[in-house]
Amino acid sequence: MAIVETRKLTKVFKRGNVGAVNNVDLESREGEFLVLLGPSGSGKTTLLRMIAGLEEPTSGDILIGGRVVNDLTPRERGIAMVFQSYALYPHLTAFKNIVFPLKAQGIAKAERQKRADWAASLLGIKHLFQRKPRELSGGERQRVALARAIVREPSLFLLDEPLSNLDAKLRASAREELEQFQKRIGTTAIYVTHDQVEAMAMGDRVVVMSQGSVRQIGTPAVVYDEPADTFVATFLGSPPMNILPANGVIVGFRPEHFLPPGVAERLGEHVSYQFRVTHSEYLGAERILYGTMEGGAFNERKVISRIPATHGAEISDGNVYSFAVANRDLKFFDPKTEKRTAAARPPS
Ligand code: ATP
Repeated sequence: MAIVETRKLTKVFKRGNVGAVNNVDLESREGEFLVLLGPSGSGKTTLLRMIAGLEEPTSGDILIGGRVVNDLTPRERGIAMVFQSYALYPHLTAFKNIVFPLKAQGIAKAERQKRADWAASLLGIKHLFQRKPRELSGGERQRVALARAIVREPSLFLLDEPLSNLDAKLRASAREELEQFQKRIGTTAIYVTHDQVEAMAMGDRVVVMSQGSVRQIGTPAVVYDEPADTFVATFLGSPPMNILPANGVIVGFRPEHFLPPGVAERLGEHVSYQFRVTHSEYLGAERILYGTMEGGAFNERKVISRIPATHGAEISDGNVYSFAVANRDLKFFDPKTEKRTAAARPPS
């Protein structure tokens, strides 16, 4: 098991350009499932590849278990990597695929069998040992690839969107399986995804990245409820947080905190706004209401509300309603830096 640390880690692909990864300081915890989350091009894969030893940093250090590993080969770093395309050898059976890295290391046959049995029992794939990859489903192939990664008993797991080839249903079950499996083996894992649901569901902590920089590191609850800046506030959550500038400050609140008449009274200290609903979406479990603010500090600003379908509020398009947000659910950001600032008086 290992703690991974990066110090001012930077990768510039073309001299003169902005870095794909800029000055990233990161420290994983023992046995942690750490997720790198960010939009396409934010530098997640490049960061992971530098930790793996597949990409040379322009500057900065990578430490594994307290030791600088910049000059070590991927194999010397004791890392197992699972990619989006797990690239099993098509002509070999699942068993042979799994023991392939052990054979390459010259490990004796009996030991190879023992480790393959161990990995297969963890992943429930022993019955698939004699099948070729083409005879396996996407999810089964993914488990074989995972087994192949763990038989080497790595001290660190690096995963780059390993579930993205699976359909939505399989993806959800594979996600849960992978999470439980990581907890069972207790190996530190770093997992790259651009899917916020996956990040929130799987991560012990989430590293939110944008343009090669880390915007925030925290538990899913912290990055969602206490975003460090407007980027994190709007990248997480669907629909995203409402971001409304007024009176020299940016005010943010989540759609699920912008509540219809009948609920506001139960909120405690709150602020009310006139909300003109322009259109709505019925999504089964909830309704998404789109519209604009009517009058006040946010006049004509677009805003979204998200209410449980069970709420049963009579709300129709084209009308104006008095919606409310509890004071505790209002977040304030500096308009210049876009970073969180201290709570202020809510504009009304
Ligand atoms: P995605 O989710 O799309 O995979 P990502 O967050 O993993 O994106 P990276 O693949 O790390 O992002 O890319 C970060 C930036 O570095 C991008 O602007 C990309 O174009 C650039 N980049 C990545 N690899 C190279 C390379 N080999 N040569 C030049 N530029 C590269």
